[in-house]
Amino acid sequence: MSDLLQVKNLKTGFQTENGFLPVVHGISFHVNQGEIVGLVGESGSGKSVTSLSIMRLFHDTRGKIADGEILYKGENLLTFPEKKMTKYRGKELSMIFQEPMTALNPVLTIGKQMRETIMLHLGMSKKEAHQYAIEKLKLVGIPRAEQVMEDYPHQLSGGMRQRVIIAMQISCNPSLLIADEPTTALDVTIQAQILKLMEEIQEKTNMGILLITHDLGVVAEICDRVIVMYAGRIVEEASAVDLFENPKHPYTKGLMESAPKIGSKKDRLNSITGTVPNPNNMPKGCKFAPRCPVAMPICHEKEPELMADGNHSARCWLLDEEVKKKEEMLNA
Ligand code: SF4
Repeated sequence: MSDLLQVKNLKTGFQTENGFLPVVHGISFHVNQGEIVGLVGESGSGKSVTSLSIMRLFHDTRGKIADGEILYKGENLLTFPEKKMTKYRGKELSMIFQEPMTALNPVLTIGKQMRETIMLHLGMSKKEAHQYAIEKLKLVGIPRAEQVMEDYPHQLSGGMRQRVIIAMQISCNPSLLIADEPTTALDVTIQAQILKLMEEIQEKTNMGILLITHDLGVVAEICDRVIVMYAGRIVEEASAVDLFENPKHPYTKGLMESAPKIGSKKDRLNSITGTVPNPNNMPKGCKFAPRCPVAMPICHEKEPELMADGNHSARCWLLDEEVKKKEEMLNA
């Protein structure tokens, strides 16, 4: 497997009246070809800003990418002229959003929207694009694909609309698909079907997928590797197997305890108390300290670095042997 996407020291934020307000604080990670990577965190953790930065859809009058590199197949997307980036969007890198209605034009038929994308990126004639679109709709499991080509978005259910979006986004065979909460707006049964579909498509096409979600259950279903974000920082990164067997960061453990489990008799979920800090008012030290059930004095003073143990890393003082020893002595 090779690096398809490499994000290096990405710093993004908002331009405000009082100057630059950072939201993502120098994060680095990669996605390999043929790999599904989950980017997980509560809303406000910076994961959507990260995905929009990769697509360069964030850098407008208020949003600003202040530093870092986004290497796609070795080329820094941040140095591309807008014209080249527009060509890459849809063809090389594609994005699926949470609410499929916002990604579809309500006044155009599904067929017209699909044909236009395909003709633009693959240079096909209208007739070829029509046939090709039907094939893609069939690939994502849409029954009566020919009929759906004539339908308007509002005539389809939420699950069908998300299938259409997936068909549209994979129609130009992108190497990287970014899916931002693709199943959140759907009911549980449809969610499972859409996740299964994404997994099948990934296996068939060998594309890399960056799956943005607040839901660890979604990650457990299909991801190979997981990156947990909190307050604009990566706080844990591991293979999905390692993360679920041995979560190291108290935030990850909290997310796991908050996730509903099939067969669980508990009627109340343990949720993490408090909320993600406001970028305007970050706590000193570890950004999770005000919510952390095992915070130590040092946590309120000094922010830990991301510490690696093989391929598993976490940003927590509990992983620092010296700090741990000191703490044990104090409590002895
Ligand atoms: Fe909790 Fe301290 Fe670890 Fe932060 S560094 S997660 S406050 S134990």
